[in-house]
Amino acid sequence: MDFLNAAPNASLKYPYALPPLPYDYGALQSAVDEQTMRVHHDKHHQGYTDKFNKALKDQAELQQKTLVELLSDLSTLPDDVRVAVRNNGGGYFNHALFWPMLSENGGGDPGGELGKAIERDFGSFSAFKEQFTNAATTLFGSGWAWLVKNSGGKLEVIKTANQDTPLMSSKTPVLGIDVWEHAYYLKYQNRRAEYVGNFWKIVNWETCGRNYDE
Ligand code: MN
Repeated sequence: MDFLNAAPNASLKYPYALPPLPYDYGALQSAVDEQTMRVHHDKHHQGYTDKFNKALKDQAELQQKTLVELLSDLSTLPDDVRVAVRNNGGGYFNHALFWPMLSENGGGDPGGELGKAIERDFGSFSAFKEQFTNAATTLFGSGWAWLVKNSGGKLEVIKTANQDTPLMSSKTPVLGIDVWEHAYYLKYQNRRAEYVGNFWKIVNWETCGRNYDE
């Protein structure tokens, strides 16, 4: 699985570095304002990165595992590091995936194999959009909504709480939306549905198509 398309990739190991945004902080302003992007990337994602590295600092054996290996089988981790890897490793991974899923030239419909698979598994693009929007707006508390490919190759919409990742249920992330308040609150306050509605303008379907093709 090589679906981290920016600087990081799935073979990454400790120590983890914050990947740069693949566009300017203000590039996504049709949906997400510059200040939110600065705080989200430079403070929140940096924070997950730092805490993830700290959790692995004295774990020589775990430092040899890849990011995807660590997050795919949390049950094998020692008790004292499992929660930190789940929360901060998950946060590191989810955000590294998320940035390249967005683009100032995004929006529209997915073409290619992903477009066909969405029609096959949801009936239509608009039916998929409705299901994903519903998941993103109804998720209680903090977390993510995802379009994922399951182990049988079928597309599904799922929600994950906090920084849990689709890897925990052996699913490949294709598109995700961060619905933590830190992702939208400066611009939208409590209006999460408006953020989710504008999100469609910045979806980078090229990246999502590559994620699907993996
Ligand atoms: Mn976030």
